[in-house]
Amino acid sequence: MQLKLYNPLTRKTEVFTPIDPENKVVSFYSCGPTVYDYAHIGNFRAFLNADVLRRTLEAIGYEVKQVMNITDVGHMTEDNLADGGGEDKMEVATARLLEAKKLGTLSSDMDIDPSDPLAVAEFYANAFMKDAKALGIRVVDDVETNNEVMPRPTQYIPQMISMVESLIESGHAYVASDGVVYFDVASFPKYGELSGNTLDALRSGEGGRVDMETQAVKRNPADFMLWKPDETHVMRWPSPWGDGYPGWHLECSSMATELLGDIIDIHSGGEDNIFPHHECEIAQSCCATGKDSFANYWFHTRFLLVDGTKMSKSKGNFYTLRDLVKKGATPAAIRLELIRTNYCSNANFTMQGLKDSQRQIDRWCRLADWLCEHGSTKIADTPLQQARDKFISAMCEDLNVSGAIGFLSEAVSEYAVDSAPVKGDGPSTLTEELEALQTIDSILGVINLESCACTESLDMATIDALIEDRLSARDNKDWSRADEIREELLALGVSIKDGSDGTTWTRIVQ
Ligand code: AMP
Ligand code: ZN
Repeated sequence: MQLKLYNPLTRKTEVFTPIDPENKVVSFYSCGPTVYDYAHIGNFRAFLNADVLRRTLEAIGYEVKQVMNITDVGHMTEDNLADGGGEDKMEVATARLLEAKKLGTLSSDMDIDPSDPLAVAEFYANAFMKDAKALGIRVVDDVETNNEVMPRPTQYIPQMISMVESLIESGHAYVASDGVVYFDVASFPKYGELSGNTLDALRSGEGGRVDMETQAVKRNPADFMLWKPDETHVMRWPSPWGDGYPGWHLECSSMATELLGDIIDIHSGGEDNIFPHHECEIAQSCCATGKDSFANYWFHTRFLLVDGTKMSKSKGNFYTLRDLVKKGATPAAIRLELIRTNYCSNANFTMQGLKDSQRQIDRWCRLADWLCEHGSTKIADTPLQQARDKFISAMCEDLNVSGAIGFLSEAVSEYAVDSAPVKGDGPSTLTEELEALQTIDSILGVINLESCACTESLDMATIDALIEDRLSARDNKDWSRADEIREELLALGVSIKDGSDGTTWTRIVQ
């Protein structure tokens, strides 16, 4: 099956072709969180959509090497307006936490020194990992075997410095009169290809940034900072240009190249990352590697709205995962609510939508349990197997999640999920149907099939042989052996019943 994906570079929906089609391996870099606070559900919509893309690729046979950074340095409050402008986000966090400590409102689980930016980063990074795990974001599981899949910029300062050095050497960067190292955008003719913010467009005032302070020293107002010497900055490192800190675009370019290679298949982020962040990443990466491309496909999630408007603390419509869990929501329902709208459109989060998502998941879980309770559905042409194929086809149409869910819902209505369990006559269809549901959920990630006993594969031959042995034991009036076999079957997760029509068995549902 082929995946069709919208590619912002060509402004077309294309058949996804990886760099390495033979080995079916996809390299995927996702811009991750800045860990100065708990991530909110808008952040998680971007991370979850990247996860759904990854899971879809896996469902059609690709191995995905995903890297998601955890930004612990280099992100300033005014980054979008001025290079290195405003305050360091980590410094803002330490000030906020110190104030909370003074007022006695610091959360009791925060047993760290709130004045230490690295300790604060670590605290929120751990909180992020916990939340992301609860939401089923797979890259977090990869960390258990390889911590380089979620790298921290503070660990990659030497690589960033050497990238800046090579850009200066090749004439793509310069040290300005204020000592700051800037990337020379005029040296990269493709600047603007991703966002449409070409130098001409920026000159005529479209989509440009206001950067009054540094304009005087830059060759071009769109030139962006690579390294800023600042001996007073809270987080700083020695460099050939003095103690200071890196530009925020630099970290993703350095870590993607270091961990995934010069050219990567897919790069994801939220829509606000398109410009300047991703545009600048492309410029500095292509110039540093000498390659024509940095990422072949870009994947941008449109913003999440809450109750139809931008999320904000002052409007009272700002939620973290924790806020919603405290209100009784399950991570599965939150996941479904955040992924059900196609990533190319704004999604609107509402509490009613969250309840509807929960209801839908409950029904799917009931189907899983119902399938477990039945020996067989006695339905010849299984709706779930058909739904699985249609589901994956819909996902391959640029991640049509709502269409895919529609196929699943249609299939569920074919099963008498709400009726009382009936005895089945054999498990073969059942296993295939559960497998179909499992494949669908390998993308959705919301049905807890692990808690369903039937997802563990049963050794049918052993069960059949034991039932036969038990019948012989009963025929021979060897009741203790017959009881022993009943216990053995129970241990295998199978419960048996003797009736007028012989011995039937069902799986034990926990
Ligand atoms: P940050 O932690 O601020 O660097 O943001 C992490 C990611 O969340 C970025 O990729 C942003 O584009 C994304 N993001 C922020 N707000 C929203 C939102 N309301 N909806 C979707 N994505 C968002
Ligand atoms: Zn990034």
